[in-house]
Amino acid sequence: MRLSRRELYESSGEFQRTVSISELGLDDLSLLKDNLPVTMKIKRSGSTLDVRGEVTADLKETCDRCLEIYDKTIKGSFRILVTEDPSMLNETSNSDIMFFSTDQNEIDISPALRDSIVLERPMKEICSKECKGLCAGCGVNLNTSNCKCKKEEMDERWAPLKEINLSDMEN
Ligand SMILES: [Zn+2]
Ligand SMILES: [Zn+2]
Repeated sequence: MRLSRRELYESSGEFQRTVSISELGLDDLSLLKDNLPVTMKIKRSGSTLDVRGEVTADLKETCDRCLEIYDKTIKGSFRILVTEDPSMLNETSNSDIMFFSTDQNEIDISPALRDSIVLERPMKEICSKECKGLCAGCGVNLNTSNCKCKKEEMDERWAPLKEINLSDMEN
């Protein structure tokens, strides 16, 4: 998503934009809409702009425990310092600082938006904290059905062990 010089320097208060999935390179996620809303606010201090915002993504995820597909909303927040002062780049190790030279008319902040969504996704997607997963014996979804083998094969004391084995297999 590109912000023009005019938007950067003349916006006041909070404003809305949209960003397309292809601009973000998030085609591998099952996003429900092609365009994601972005809310931003820009504060100016000297030749540096403090761009803060939030991008909202509605997507379909697959639960790693029970394999059900469920809807999820991710709100990725980002903060980018856009500066015309090249010395600012050396001053800090903050990676979300972008140089905006005086002859540029726009700046592409898509990478920061993309990161803000990707970083919000946990290593393991779980549909809910209470998800019981699939029975190791017969494979039924224990959230929706009861299985008969449960008592014989599963013992609560072994539950943590089962999780460790499952995650090893998935990786
Ligand atoms: Zn689940
Ligand atoms: Zn079972």
